[in-house]
Amino acid sequence: MSRSVLVTGGSRGIGLAIAGAFKAAGDKVAITYNSTEPPPGFLAVKCDVTDTEQVEAAFETIQAEHGPVEVLVANAGITKDTLLLRMSDEDWDAVIQTNLSGSFRVARRAAKGMLRMRKGRIVFISSVVGLLGSPGQVNYAASKSGLVGMARSMARELGSRGITANVVAPGFVETDMTAVLPEETQKQYLGQIPLGRFGLTEEIANAVRWISSDEAGYITGAVIPVDGGIGMGN
Ligand code: NDP
Repeated sequence: MSRSVLVTGGSRGIGLAIAGAFKAAGDKVAITYNSTEPPPGFLAVKCDVTDTEQVEAAFETIQAEHGPVEVLVANAGITKDTLLLRMSDEDWDAVIQTNLSGSFRVARRAAKGMLRMRKGRIVFISSVVGLLGSPGQVNYAASKSGLVGMARSMARELGSRGITANVVAPGFVETDMTAVLPEETQKQYLGQIPLGRFGLTEEIANAVRWISSDEAGYITGAVIPVDGGIGMGN
């Protein structure tokens, strides 16, 4: 059955691949974008996830076009990497506001409709960095591990109403976000990945689509690594 799916930050990278996977499966897919011109083929709504009013307005538009959101993928995210002692309050706040508070805002809004429908799927895009830590990414790692506690609390709060909340934790995936990393850093990561290569956006998308499917109906509060093995055991 065709569901109303929302992918935040669906204008490029992993989010766009996730949106494509749901569309290919026959769902009605909305994406939000912030600064990048969105690609055609989706219901694209401009929405900065750091702004509660914009989030509210986006959900209203999507609901009018596609019906209440049944699958939410909180994917929008940024990095502002620097070493701890150089990290400004602004660097910290921007990353927490977008990655953690932004995900909270959209999940809170989505849950409203899901509770009425007594069904729903919430998927947070975290990162292996949230579990392993990473020098220069104190803000990013905190935002990404925060998603785990948030998802698990929502899983407990919403489970009795048929709503699942899960986390997908990608490893190193080739996108704009990772293209800016120095070649030396990329080489170091590569050496630590058991599968010996970086991930493809489609590989993350497939896991997200599956965890949102009926087949995964008994999975909630889980952290699913899609990381070539780099985070094994965490
Ligand atoms: P990109 O930088 O390629 O894309 C980021 C997306 O987030 C864009 O669509 C962007 O929208 C959106 N976005 C950023 N800030 C905001 C905001 N304030 N409000 C709304 N949307 C916003 O990133 P990736 O595709 O690489 O990453 C997607 C997710 O996956 C992120 O959460 C990231 O942390 C996570 N991840 C990525 C990994 C990787 O190796 N690439 C590894 C692990 C996790 P716009 O362009 O329109 O501004």
